[in-house]
Amino acid sequence: MDAGCIFCRIANGEIPARIVHEEDDLVAFHDSDPKAPTHILIIPRRHIVSVGALADEDEAVAGRLLLAARDIAKKENIAQSGFRVVTNTGDDAGQSVAHLHVHVLGGRGMKWPPG
Ligand code: 5GP
Ligand code: ZN
Repeated sequence: MDAGCIFCRIANGEIPARIVHEEDDLVAFHDSDPKAPTHILIIPRRHIVSVGALADEDEAVAGRLLLAARDIAKKENIAQSGFRVVTNTGDDAGQSVAHLHVHVLGGRGMKWPPG
């Protein structure tokens, strides 16, 4: 737990969020500034800064993040139409919250490559 981290504070219930899915190691909630009709963030409960900060021992939680993305896409009815799974890491990628999070975006057509 990093007391100054907004996502740690969402994970422990100090800051409210529209939670859609919870597991022992993960929490998923609606992004407060959605970039698509469906925009969910999935985070590990434990403070990990980014993909770049994952340790080899984090294999299980890293895997769970993707499987949760699969399950949430189904639950949110975007599995058939398609969805995008994104995790921004560091400044060039535009990471704005330094707690690992996976974006699950869907409900509209998207362009490639990203900006
Ligand atoms: P990043 O830019 O780091 O890839 O993504 C951070 C995301 O967190 C952004 O899409 C932003 O809208 C979202 N976000 C930032 N603060 C909060 C918050 O307090 N609550 C929720 N639900 N989302 C947040
Ligand atoms: Zn944190």
